[in-house]
Amino acid sequence: MRMNCCFRWWIRQLANLNSKHWHMVYAALRRLRARYAVAPLIKRLGDQELRVRAAACTALGQLGDRRAVVPLIKRLGDPEAYVRQAACAALGQLGDECAVTPLIERLGDRCEYVRQAACTALEQLGEGRLANAVLGALKAEKAARAALACLAIEGDLRAMAPLLQYLSASSKQVRRAACQAIASITTTLQPHLTKLLCRSCLTRFVRQPYAIAGQRSIQVIACRRCQHTTEVTFNVCEVVAVLDAALCQAYAHLGGVVYVRWLQRETLFDFDRMEIVRASEYEVERLCIQVSNDMDAFRQPRYRKMLCTVDTQCDLSQSALNMLKRTFGKVLVDVATRQYRNDSC
Ligand SMILES: [Zn+2]
Repeated sequence: MRMNCCFRWWIRQLANLNSKHWHMVYAALRRLRARYAVAPLIKRLGDQELRVRAAACTALGQLGDRRAVVPLIKRLGDPEAYVRQAACAALGQLGDECAVTPLIERLGDRCEYVRQAACTALEQLGEGRLANAVLGALKAEKAARAALACLAIEGDLRAMAPLLQYLSASSKQVRRAACQAIASITTTLQPHLTKLLCRSCLTRFVRQPYAIAGQRSIQVIACRRCQHTTEVTFNVCEVVAVLDAALCQAYAHLGGVVYVRWLQRETLFDFDRMEIVRASEYEVERLCIQVSNDMDAFRQPRYRKMLCTVDTQCDLSQSALNMLKRTFGKVLVDVATRQYRNDSC
């Protein structure tokens, strides 16, 4: 209890002392046992005084307790740049990889000091290549644009989110540099476009216009459903929807083919082929109704040309087979691909 009072006294000094003396507070908190100081410092992250919020960020970074990671990530959205900068620095010190994505977003911050702090923090978290490429590209550095293109071809499109933020920056040079960097990524990915799949939506990537208020739209490569670029899977030649009641695995990516368990997903996705292995008449009927009611302009015309394989061990009635024939282009009763079932139950 006495120890707790001691911490509270020191933490109160964040508000009372001049910033020049805050290092005394940090040193005192470090000397005392850090774990007691974390909770009261986290409370101070919501203080009305911006200097106190920033000081609390710095103190939490120095104490090195992982409980501070999530509250510090929230501070990355603080209205004051000074606090966002302190939160970036603290997250770099804590070294928790949960902070990587929110820090990448801060690379698109309107304040240069925050961008630089986010870059340094990302370097500490082992993401310096990406961070330096983004900041270099914004200074119109050719080598940085080439580095972003290399990252894109390796399957890392995390730079796109902060680059898109810069398209509405106040500086014309920065907007132009962001446009050039995005164009470089788009050109690099163009030959691979048909093999990109959004992991989250299981829909294909497309090249589409990205509207910017008051300016000409630019071409970007993104998921055609969520319009994001972060959840990308490369080298997907074919997506197979599998209807197999005994299959545990919801998703498998093997040799360029992605297998997705139909029953696992409530929403439709972009698939090229259907395999029915173990399914009841009701499940087949549900599948056919769902596909028939699909209003998606990309998928709808493809169903009538699509192959649906029904495994020989799947004992479906003739009426169920007829329903499948009315839904898909070709229905084949054959031995279904077994490859993905290595990991099934
Ligand atoms: Zn998506």
